Amino acid sequence: MKKEHKDIIKKAIRDIEDFPKEGIVFKDITTLLNDGKAYDLLIEHLAHRYRDYNLDFIAGIESRGFIFGSSLATKLGIGFVPVRKKGKLPYTTISEKYSLEYGVDEVEIHIDAFRDVKKAKILLIDDLIATGGTAYAACNLINKAKAECVEVCFIINLKALEGDKKLKDLAPVYSVLEF
Ligand code: AMP
Repeated sequence: MKKEHKDIIKKAIRDIEDFPKEGIVFKDITTLLNDGKAYDLLIEHLAHRYRDYNLDFIAGIESRGFIFGSSLATKLGIGFVPVRKKGKLPYTTISEKYSLEYGVDEVEIHIDAFRDVKKAKILLIDDLIATGGTAYAACNLINKAKAECVEVCFIINLKALEGDKKLKDLAPVYSVLEF
């Protein structure tokens, strides 16, 4: 991507200090979503990157991954699958647990999320990678469903937390911006 385009996208993301708790700098992407030009540059860039991957579906992680993922899926003319937190999906699910700082969480997809496509090629997407725990579990979930996670894509990589290093054992990782 051209540096000037990358800068437009980068500038559209707002830093909120001490949210949701002290010491955290929260990357607020709502200011990217409400900037039509910057958002279009981002989705066009991703569509260009993934056009020749022959993807079957895009899976987006709740909840900001839904926004980027469904925009991109529509652009590529393929289906979108929401990876949700436990207890939100109405039909039979498969799930994967992962540990948090305190306790455990769980992500789920519907058992028929990838329809009847054999070895479906999936791009997993979320807004941001921090420790990588959520994406790691979501990627395992895709494997459990006998689909193939061909890449995991983030808009933002918080490089210092090294979440991408761990995730690379499961699938290639691409991030548009690094902080
Ligand atoms: P992790 O599992 O640690 O990689 O956390 C990733 C999830 O937490 C993503 O869905 C992000 O939306 C959210 N998240 C973690 N840290 C931040 C941050 N500094 N700013 C915005 N979102 C964050």
